[in-house]
Amino acid sequence: MNEYATTTATARIIAVQDDIVSLESSGDRPLTKNEVVYIVPSRGEAKHQERLKAEILRIYGNRADAQVYESTIGVGVGDPVEQSGELLSVELGPGLLGQVYDGLQNPLDLLASQFGYFLPRGVDLPALDRNAKWAFTPCVQTGTRLYAGAALGSVQERRFKHKIMVPFDIRGEAEVTWIQQGNVTVDEPVAKIRLSGGKEQLITLKQRWPVRNPLSQAMLRNNINQRQYPNAPLVTHLRLIDTFFPIALGGTGCIPGPFGAGKTVLQSLIARNSEVDIVIVVACGERAGEVVETISEFPQMIDPATGGSLMDRTIIICNTSSMPVAAREASIYTGITLGEYYRQMGLNVLLLADSTSRWAQAMRETSGRLEEIPGEEAFPAYLDSSIKGIYERAGVVSNADGHTGSLTMIGTVSPAGGNFEEPVTQSTLSTVKTFLGLSADRAYKRFYPAVDPLLSWSRYLEQLNPWYQRELAPDWTKQVQSVLQLLAHGNSVHEMIQVAGEEGVTMEDFVTYQEALFVDMVYLQQDAFDKVDVSVPMQRQKETFMLIMRLIDADLQFSDQNHAREYFTRLTGLFKNLNYAVWQSNEYQQLLDKINHLISAI
Ligand code: ADP
Ligand code: MG
Repeated sequence: MNEYATTTATARIIAVQDDIVSLESSGDRPLTKNEVVYIVPSRGEAKHQERLKAEILRIYGNRADAQVYESTIGVGVGDPVEQSGELLSVELGPGLLGQVYDGLQNPLDLLASQFGYFLPRGVDLPALDRNAKWAFTPCVQTGTRLYAGAALGSVQERRFKHKIMVPFDIRGEAEVTWIQQGNVTVDEPVAKIRLSGGKEQLITLKQRWPVRNPLSQAMLRNNINQRQYPNAPLVTHLRLIDTFFPIALGGTGCIPGPFGAGKTVLQSLIARNSEVDIVIVVACGERAGEVVETISEFPQMIDPATGGSLMDRTIIICNTSSMPVAAREASIYTGITLGEYYRQMGLNVLLLADSTSRWAQAMRETSGRLEEIPGEEAFPAYLDSSIKGIYERAGVVSNADGHTGSLTMIGTVSPAGGNFEEPVTQSTLSTVKTFLGLSADRAYKRFYPAVDPLLSWSRYLEQLNPWYQRELAPDWTKQVQSVLQLLAHGNSVHEMIQVAGEEGVTMEDFVTYQEALFVDMVYLQQDAFDKVDVSVPMQRQKETFMLIMRLIDADLQFSDQNHAREYFTRLTGLFKNLNYAVWQSNEYQQLLDKINHLISAI
């Protein structure tokens, strides 16, 4: 990213406070909010020619405050500052997939291979490999007129046809004046376009985009993209989510839960098994070890859909422990922008952020150092709008080529002490449309995934009704809602039993309680360590769910409570084995027969 910086200083440092610096412009160039500047430290142990990346947060007259993305040791008053003239941006182009980046899009494996695990300060590496060659195939001819975001051609990036698009910042129609097939690096021109003003511009495989500017919004403004309502679910292969608390493709969801309740494991299951094209994992690690786990585990995982490496469809954005809080804040924006880029190609992208609380805390620290007026629990007053601003970038978008892509966003929230009343959880809840609340109690009982069915909700269950009617069953949504009611009813009977004992409840209530327990054991809970149960396709979920509905709807006549309990215990055993059996195998069929026999015998 250095190549975009000017070489002459146009400002000087006037104050330093941790990773916030104040600077004063010489008046040669205007200061811009969110502009990237480079500080050249002159004191202390700082080596010659080190350049520290910073971003302008606030401007007052010819002065500004900036957050520095590196340690500011050795930075002093009077140090020169170079203005890049560019907002904090990422590189977009082929070669993003399979990469592990830090929050500023430095490739971590490259960093590690060049510098070992102690990352030196001031290192800024190109995000996209400058030497890799890509076979570019044009899809338009000379003379074609196109808008920003329309495809000029494509290269093959792993399993995907990676579209090379007209740069997103171009206004009005551009005419292709030259385009050529060829084997090129990301820096070599493949086409030339004439802009509406008459100027000509070379097109390479890569372009840049400022991370804090929603890409789709820019395209919407130019009438290139159109927003669509989400109309299909993200199929995660997790029964509890897909059946009861769905998240739409292009929708939003959050997973709040106390420490150790299973947020990270749940996100990683969703990342592995979901039916999407591209997965972007933003790891704002709570512990450094967790981040290392993510990086080392993922490349070894097999993509269940293709049998290839999971990294073929994955990008990881990860904060190393050596990076200051400001980089943590940037990482979410970097991740979203990469997601928007692949959505623009017409692909379905899933972004997982773990944990958004760490991101909000970074914002709180920065805000504190800027001495802004604090809101609730010392979070900045704009916390709510920042959280909304992030989730609003999710959505379904159809582009200039008539292709439709989606960006689904799921964030974990880790409230201190598991208290969901705190500001980050509350702001997130008022933004997202699916809430998967993890419960310490269920995690303690090892009821995984430990999502509390009485607490959680999804607005998509109703919104996606047409999809369910078409793909699953005419009354799917209604049936699912009736089972949710059964779970709530079962829970209140359970509470009654704890007070009054089993003899204190009616036979009918006791059966409801047993049914709720049964649904929990065999449907809500899912074994992440079983190779079959870990990932259940939607049609199999439907089959199991319909069987459970038949059972619940059956007119069960028991002689006494023991009789009922025995019946459900046997049924639970059979269903668990059914869950472990390969779908439609002989074993599966035999278990189905036994279950049907048991149901009709009662
Ligand atoms: P959090 O991110 O909420 O702090 P983790 O996702 O790291 O919690 O989970 C903590 C531990 O709980 C895991 O190391 C694992 O032992 C257990 N766990 C969580 N989810 C599951 C699951 N679905 N299946 C089995 N064990 C799980
Ligand atoms: Mg975690």
